Amino acid sequence: MGLKYRTYLDGTAIYGCTRCKTHLTTGDAIVSRQFQGQHGQAYLFNYVVNILQGEDEDRSMTTGLHTVRDISCVKCNTILGWTYVGILFLFLRIYFK
Ligand SMILES: [Zn+2]
Repeated sequence: MGLKYRTYLDGTAIYGCTRCKTHLTTGDAIVSRQFQGQHGQAYLFNYVVNILQGEDEDRSMTTGLHTVRDISCVKCNTILGWTYVGILFLFLRIYFK
C-alpha cells in the first residue's frame, strides 16, 4: 500500500468529490453548466485532478454514440462522471465547496 498523492487546488470555487471532498476542479474550469447527467445535474469541465479513468466504452448519448470513460475519485473510488475519449471535457457530479 503506497501513499496516494493528491493535488490540492486553490481558488474561490473548489469542486470536490461528493463523498470524500477530495479536490477535483475549480470554477475557472467550467465550460458549461447546461448538462443533465444520468444522476442529475452535471457540469462540463476542461480541467480535473485526482481522478482515475476506466476502460473505453461506446455509449449512446443524446448527442449520438460516443467513446467515453467513467472517471472516479482517486481516494474513495466513487464514480464521479465520465469523459469523452480524445476530448478533454469531463462531466462530473460534484460537491460545491
Ligand atoms: Zn472521493
